[in-house]
Amino acid sequence: MNPYRIASGQIVRLNRWNADQSDGFKGGQEAALRELQRLSLHLWPLQELLYAGQRHKVLVVLQGMDAAGKDGTIRRVFEGVNPQGVRVARFRKPSEEESSHDFLWRAHAVMPASGELVIFNRSYYEDVLVVRVHGLLPKKIWQGRYRRINEFERILIEEGTTILKFCLMIDRDEQAKRLQERLSDPTKQWKVDAADLLERKRWPSYMRAYSEMLRKTSTPRAPWYLIPSNRRWLRDVLVSRVIVETLQGLRMRYPALPARKRSLRVT
Ligand code: ATP
Ligand code: MG
Repeated sequence: MNPYRIASGQIVRLNRWNADQSDGFKGGQEAALRELQRLSLHLWPLQELLYAGQRHKVLVVLQGMDAAGKDGTIRRVFEGVNPQGVRVARFRKPSEEESSHDFLWRAHAVMPASGELVIFNRSYYEDVLVVRVHGLLPKKIWQGRYRRINEFERILIEEGTTILKFCLMIDRDEQAKRLQERLSDPTKQWKVDAADLLERKRWPSYMRAYSEMLRKTSTPRAPWYLIPSNRRWLRDVLVSRVIVETLQGLRMRYPALPARKRSLRVT
């Protein structure tokens, strides 16, 4: 059993959780980079099989505080995959139209189709995170959403979607370091968001919201993986490993030539 996988109902106290740990990978940074390359060599043909088979649908959800590394994870874990068949969907503050629908509407619209792998950079989980922390809706509304999310995911799974959810966890000091880096590096200044600096003040509320999200929405068929992300190399290798192992578990094969095509000849 993967030690980073959250069991259904598991109590996680993120306020006291060590995001700096690196004992999950023996051999340190260099070995991890080699392992990530090795995993990529597995990921490429697996994604091709997914695309060729046009049967399974794969959803990868990435959640995490600002600067936790959602963008970096996407860049490094999926480096070199065939862009045909892979798609990223971002979730920002809902538009007026999106807000006028139920909170799952915009997510449902961008779910993976057969043969596709879709990465959610943030997701419908914002509707039990930022919405709760900022009190955008009354408690009785967001409280009911854990169950509705679980039911939504159950339907997707029964319709052929494989769901993997990663919670990238850094600690508050690491976030400060990364935001400071963004401010002082001209190649990263474009990422600086004044709101992120204010969000930091709500760190403890976010940790409570994340903890409850993990406890209530990690299910046997759509588990959360809580990834220590202070060290980028560890984060990448842990995420990649889960994705590769899960795709291997689908036991995909290239589709056989159907009988009606067997008489085809190149002339
Ligand atoms: P970056 O690391 O580049 O800043 P980001 O994921 O933070 O990437 P932003 O463009 O800053 O991207 O926009 C995301 C913002 O939208 C977040 O602050 C998030 O909390 C907010 N958001 C997402 N979904 C919702 C929602 N349902 N309700 C309110 N705010 C939301
Ligand atoms: Mg942002």
